[in-house]
Amino acid sequence: MNQLALVTGASRGIGRGIALELAKIGSDVVINYSSNETAANQTVELCLKEAAKNGKQINVEKFQADISVSQQRQNLVQFIKNRFGKIDLLVNNAGVAPLKRADILEASEESFDRLININAKGPYFLTQLISNWMIEFVANNKQFNPKIVFITSVSAYAVSLNRGDYCISKAALSMAAKLFAVRLAQFGISVYEVRPGIIDTDMTKPAKERYDQLINNGLTPIRQWGTPEHIGKAVAAIALGFFPYTTGDVINVDGGFHLRVL
Ligand code: NAP
Repeated sequence: MNQLALVTGASRGIGRGIALELAKIGSDVVINYSSNETAANQTVELCLKEAAKNGKQINVEKFQADISVSQQRQNLVQFIKNRFGKIDLLVNNAGVAPLKRADILEASEESFDRLININAKGPYFLTQLISNWMIEFVANNKQFNPKIVFITSVSAYAVSLNRGDYCISKAALSMAAKLFAVRLAQFGISVYEVRPGIIDTDMTKPAKERYDQLINNGLTPIRQWGTPEHIGKAVAAIALGFFPYTTGDVINVDGGFHLRVL
């Protein structure tokens, strides 16, 4: 029986990259998205193609749910229960940047609430919901080893003064990964934080020229943009169980951005 992975925010960008790498290794995937149904349909098609190319037969479903809304999180989990009856991997990827970057001396409370709700509170309570289901499932299936991944960011620790709300939401999510890692270890559920650097997606488009310059000037020791595929491969390695006897680890996929250089 195939593994089943839920990837939130998988209609575009990094989430799509993760879904494609999971499809390649033969995992069934639920593609969650917020509003872009056309993009979600494309991800479904691409996943089926990638799986077929790799000789795998998989099921891929899409499901619309705004992860910042409690009822919609419940609907998403209920859909997976009805359709698949289990979940092996939750990837908390969905996230947003501020609508308008603003200095922390001026940024609005409204933007702060939006970022915290979508980037931190949503995944925190989705993980709570799914963890409780995983715990039940593990009690009846001892060999079952589910996993949870949080896609955070280098912004969990790097200061960007014009998007403090984003930084705080990602720092909070990083702590959520630690909290769930400790709480769930006794049930055989492993939790990982994957920390992307500068990745080429819609989110980074508005700052493309600035990042081009920074990367060329050596901001990342590997002088290249990251891609959704890079993040997808790290998540696929986790899904394949290539990190036994680990939990709570941070996997930096950032071209070496996190290294301090003297
Ligand atoms: P993106 O290209 O803007 O894609 C965002 C995805 O999240 C879309 O699939 C979107 O769905 C979905 N989404 C947004 N709000 C949602 C909500 N409330 N409920 C459910 N889904 C929602 O962004 P990305 O660059 O791939 O970023 C993905 C994750 O990686 C985010 O958590 C981001 O913070 C993190 N990250 C990105 C970078 C980077 O350089 N790009 C670096 C570090 C971390 P729709 O298509 O329906 O709008």
